[in-house]
Amino acid sequence: MAGNLSFEDLKTAAKAGEIDTVLVCCVDMQGRLMGKRFHVQNFIASSHEETHCCNYMLATDLEMATPDGYATTSWRAGYGDYVMKPDLSTLRRVPWLEATAMVLCDLLDHHTHEPVPQSPRQILKVQIARLKELGYEAMMATELEFFLFEQSYRDLARSGYRDLTPISAYNEDYHILQTTKEEGIMRPVRNHLYAAGIPVENSKGEAETGQEELNIRYAEALDCADHHTIAKHAVKEIAWAHGRSATFLPKWNPKKVGSSSHVHMSLWSGSTPAFRDPAGAHGMSELMRHFMAGLIEYASDYTFFLAPYVNSYKRFMKGTFAPTRTVWSVDNRTAGFRLCGEGSKAIRVECRIGGSDMNPYLAQAALIAAGIKGIEDKLALAPPTTGDVYENAEAKHIPSSLRAATETLRSSKMLRAAMGDAVVDHYVRCAEWEQEEFDKAVTDWEIIRGFERA
Ligand code: ADP
Repeated sequence: MAGNLSFEDLKTAAKAGEIDTVLVCCVDMQGRLMGKRFHVQNFIASSHEETHCCNYMLATDLEMATPDGYATTSWRAGYGDYVMKPDLSTLRRVPWLEATAMVLCDLLDHHTHEPVPQSPRQILKVQIARLKELGYEAMMATELEFFLFEQSYRDLARSGYRDLTPISAYNEDYHILQTTKEEGIMRPVRNHLYAAGIPVENSKGEAETGQEELNIRYAEALDCADHHTIAKHAVKEIAWAHGRSATFLPKWNPKKVGSSSHVHMSLWSGSTPAFRDPAGAHGMSELMRHFMAGLIEYASDYTFFLAPYVNSYKRFMKGTFAPTRTVWSVDNRTAGFRLCGEGSKAIRVECRIGGSDMNPYLAQAALIAAGIKGIEDKLALAPPTTGDVYENAEAKHIPSSLRAATETLRSSKMLRAAMGDAVVDHYVRCAEWEQEEFDKAVTDWEIIRGFERA
């Protein structure tokens, strides 16, 4: 489901004094909600048509620095505007904020009103349209894993992120007693998101102290990415409102497992599950085999879109359930790709490479592009692997660093053909800048290791 509030219902709610604020948001390269808070009457009168933002919206880093090297904008070009065009089908209540609604926007060129190709929502829309031309629709689910901490964001920032205290004291995988202690945050997360039209399935404790997972029912790809983005935002806001904090950093402690965002995918033709063939091996259709072969063949090309920061690569460690090799398996959590729902209508492939820091629009777009290439080229799927894939020396590795993933992205003919050079070059620059910034940093590890001993 998309939003759950029609424009007419918004007008009625505004008149009744139930809604006074509308968050008008776009999604940046990092997958965050960015935008403005409108008075509802202004939104109804005019800004539901369009509003504007600086075109650095798609050319800044996490800290809103303005690196050079982007073709779309620069100091030299004067940092002009983008049009933010509300997609009224995404209008919804934001029940965890008082009297507030939210709408997501598409970014358009200020002069031509054409979609901005580098916008994450647009990048996903293009791949959805390519799939539609082949006669299919992608149903996707992205799991959200994160850690909850006792301290607030402000207290942690003040302490220089020392002594981070997870909200629970031991591995809480499936642990009802432990997660009961987190219900102060997780119950409002589930209920408020559900009331916002986001079909939450469940939350559960994950395999570390203070680690939670939130599952949202699968949906058409664009809705899935919208759901993910709003849910991630809600988790942070609700934790903040309770004087706690949540992090989607994939690896905050080298001794603890990291946080992932696994992506479940199936293709449908109307109401027919196109990945299903009861007569095929494991109940998989030829289409599914080609799609999966594409996912596996091009995993290195798109790893950046699943792991966009230096920290993302710290998660890929053996024995942590985070995959390091691009093979598939049947219900085996050590492989990069796992067949789920074998032999049933819910047959699907789960990509386990993505970290909790991925931008879901870019991740899904890249996965769909790789799958389409597999279908177009009728790629053959190798047999599934079994056993501990971490120890399978024959299986191909994904890039093990941001630097390596930047190069595989840069040289990806598949992604350049599917997304266009302008898009790939833009995100290569984004990756390069992140690496350049890290290369300038002197880390705690270097100081501790070398201060006296070097
Ligand atoms: P896991 O064993 O990985 O926890 P779940 O049964 O919790 O598996 O399902 C994980 C996700 O897969 C859920 O968000 C669910 O909505 C989604 N899912 C179920 N069926 C499909 C499908 N046919 N296509 C895509 N996603 C699906």
